[in-house]
Amino acid sequence: MPYRIQDVLERIDRFPRVDIIHRPTPMRKLVRLSARLGGPEIYIKRDDLTGLAFGGNKSRKLEFIVADMLEKKADVVITWASLQSNWCMQTAAAARTFGIKPILMLFKPADHPATADGNVLLDVILDADIRILEAEKGQIVKSAQAMDVLDEAGREVKAQGHRPYLVPVGGSLVRGDMEKPLGAISYVAGFAELVEEMRSGGGIEPDYVLHATGSGGTQAGLVVGARALTSSCRILGISVSDPKGPFSDDVSEIARAADEALGLGLEIMPGDITVFDEYIGEGYAVVDRDVAEVIRLVFQTEGIVLDPVYTAKAMIGLIDLIKTGFFKPTDKVVFLHTGGTPALFPNREKIFSFLTGKD
Ligand SMILES: *Cc1c(COP(=O)(O)O)cnc(C)c1O
Repeated sequence: MPYRIQDVLERIDRFPRVDIIHRPTPMRKLVRLSARLGGPEIYIKRDDLTGLAFGGNKSRKLEFIVADMLEKKADVVITWASLQSNWCMQTAAAARTFGIKPILMLFKPADHPATADGNVLLDVILDADIRILEAEKGQIVKSAQAMDVLDEAGREVKAQGHRPYLVPVGGSLVRGDMEKPLGAISYVAGFAELVEEMRSGGGIEPDYVLHATGSGGTQAGLVVGARALTSSCRILGISVSDPKGPFSDDVSEIARAADEALGLGLEIMPGDITVFDEYIGEGYAVVDRDVAEVIRLVFQTEGIVLDPVYTAKAMIGLIDLIKTGFFKPTDKVVFLHTGGTPALFPNREKIFSFLTGKD
């Protein structure tokens, strides 16, 4: 028997949270896109409209993570990700609003220019302490390696008499000063919000929630939410960077930690985690023709802007799964829009040339 929503929310309420987003985020049916694709009933959950600094899934996580920083009396937050990271920008924005100074370790792929555009521009405006590190070409930066860099910066900040809070990429894995999977816990709440909206808007139950998955916290939270609150809803993570094998292990680890932190006793199994790694394209953050075209399709049919790094690839996955008959025509599939739209602009030239044939 699934838990009642109220019971799960009470467990989540034991964790402190600051109020920085608009909740609930809107949810609606994508009537025109569903018809166009001739597929299942597609709904969208607009977590791109959370409100903090252009919105996105990271601000939902940061409600809990910033509360933890405040509880631990941190005055500096140190985190890491890739150069145009939504996570780092949102962390800097949330931290600044609570008087906490952000230090961002940004790993720059060797072939990417470090132009002050998109999230980097916003980081600069926030006056974040930005430290750019070279990532090896074609290599995914490993969490352990990055956490060593964070530790070093943490020691330096302590020596200056400050109290740093080290938080891993995406607020996902339990590492550094984040001792509970707070990012994932925020998405257990996010899943409860989604189910509540669907039930109150016509007694509908979701069959699938599909979203872009990167550091795993969002998916882990959704998986715990789905196991706790529904009898059969499945979470489909579309990887934008990692191969599914090792990545699914990360999601499992985070989901088990969230289950334990909330005391739900769900016993998360590998079979609860579904990751597709077929839609990465040429690599993380590489914009190709399919990305440009899917952004155009969704903007033109529904007036909704996808981002080129995450949500466009998730939508490419959704469309392909529809084409290959993964869903039944009556399935209710929720596409979680996780934000990331500032990344459109640093990619303007590629998008422009793919869509106009000019360069
Ligand atoms: C970070 C991010 C994701 C992935 O979320 P994780 O919890 O890191 O897996 C998806 N979409 C956007 C826009 C993001 O910034």
